[in-house]
Amino acid sequence: MLISGMLLASGNLSAQVKSALLDPVDMAGNLEEALTFQKYATYPQYVDMMRYFVDSYPGTCRLDTFGTSEQGRLLLALKISDNAAEEEAEPRFLYTATMHGNELVGYPLMLRLIHYLLSNYGTDSEVTALVNNLAIWINPLSNPDATFYPDNDQSVALSIRQTSNGTDLNRDFPRVVDGDPDDTTGRARETRMMMEFLRENRFTMSANIHSGAEVVNYPWDYTLDRHADDSWFRFVSREYADEARAVDPGYMALFTDGISNGADWYIIHGSRQDYVTWYLGGREVTLELAEEYRMNSELLDWHWQINARSLLNYMAQCMYGITGTVTDRETGKVLTDPGTGEPVSALISIPGHDSTYSMVRTTTAFGDYYRPVEAGAFDLVASAPGYLNDTVHGVETDWYTTTRVDFQLERERKSGTGAELALEGTRIWPNPFRNAFYIDPGTGGPGSTGTGGPGSTGTGGPGSTGTGGPGSTGTGGPGSTGTREMIVEIHTLTGVTVYGEIHDRDAGTIGISPGNLPPGLYLLRLSTPDGSRVFRIVKY
Ligand SMILES: [Zn+2]
Repeated sequence: MLISGMLLASGNLSAQVKSALLDPVDMAGNLEEALTFQKYATYPQYVDMMRYFVDSYPGTCRLDTFGTSEQGRLLLALKISDNAAEEEAEPRFLYTATMHGNELVGYPLMLRLIHYLLSNYGTDSEVTALVNNLAIWINPLSNPDATFYPDNDQSVALSIRQTSNGTDLNRDFPRVVDGDPDDTTGRARETRMMMEFLRENRFTMSANIHSGAEVVNYPWDYTLDRHADDSWFRFVSREYADEARAVDPGYMALFTDGISNGADWYIIHGSRQDYVTWYLGGREVTLELAEEYRMNSELLDWHWQINARSLLNYMAQCMYGITGTVTDRETGKVLTDPGTGEPVSALISIPGHDSTYSMVRTTTAFGDYYRPVEAGAFDLVASAPGYLNDTVHGVETDWYTTTRVDFQLERERKSGTGAELALEGTRIWPNPFRNAFYIDPGTGGPGSTGTGGPGSTGTGGPGSTGTGGPGSTGTGGPGSTGTREMIVEIHTLTGVTVYGEIHDRDAGTIGISPGNLPPGLYLLRLSTPDGSRVFRIVKY
């Protein structure tokens, strides 16, 4: 009894520490006081403040209402950029906070960050570079009903984690583990609105801000497997934690380095970080910025002091890596679908490094792409439907550096090229398939190794039959760079890429396990430097 009594007492104590009892003194009395960022803004002050920013800095920001909450509160995001009203060829960045409505710290922190960026633009060189080079989006409050629970716009004192009808938004996104399609059906209104906003903007990098602990949490949340860009994630996460701990050495002390892989800490499914990073090809981390959930307002200033430098550094990472454009060699303009004439995206992939989720795509507006990546040397392949692949070898990258690589792709010719021959006789088996299928490169064309059909691979796995050594081809058609990659992509009928891998096209039979796809008809696209071909495949 004594022991359980003590446990109960300590449990209550920690609950008290984690959720301080806020009172009216923690709320700002008016907009002017809210703009000191020493108090929490009420809901009307929050909306007024977002409008105040646009009114005060009309050239550098634009307010977007990307939806409304279940109880009708506004889901707001402010875009900050040098020509905020226009779409420009620049990387897109997003901060979003307080999807758990009682994890308050991010809400005032993001309002203060907006103010800092806008008021220092043009005078502070670091801020000016960020605003000039990025399209920055900030959504300070992504679950307003829960923050102003129970339907009380004047106070955050009774804020709760879930939405007003009980959904935990950080478990409500499509689940990679279940093979969920990228579909909003059946999800909370706040999730649906956020998914649409994220899909529309396709952020290069992002972070969502929480509290309850102090750690930078990077993908994945759902599996102990590592992301293809694990060392990049660890680098930017460490940079965040190190800089914050330089201000307060006691901060982010939960893990030795201040960072953790999400699943190493604890596995969750349906998190936003995994949704953005897996389904949208983005790069998102989860910033846990305070032990306390409902923090007393007198601590807000200190949390800004600790985190301001790190928040700016993380944004700056969005400018680094490999960037460039992919255009049509003949027209000099963005790539277009040969049938419809509509603009199409190119896929940028790094053979030997990338997985399906980590490849990036060009925008259809400008043909620009942004590939954050660790320091190293990489081959870069650009591919698009109706065009010949192009490869640039040995692209060197370094931390805090931007490397430019532009591609001009040549239209695929419909007949008589080496490409057609190279993919002639290609067989897909079994089809329909259940979990896996094989691509047999066939007998035709340069570099062919097709020595045996199904059943002949019993002595070695896929990839063990390659007879042509490196450098033994180089005979491809126009645009060929002598490389031997074959990009294998699976698309849904609506054009969503659900799988992408790069293989050696001369290595013999290729085994493909596309993972958790729902049963149905898909399009399999095989692309080599000389051309591509599409097959219909059925999963049952
Ligand atoms: Zn949270």
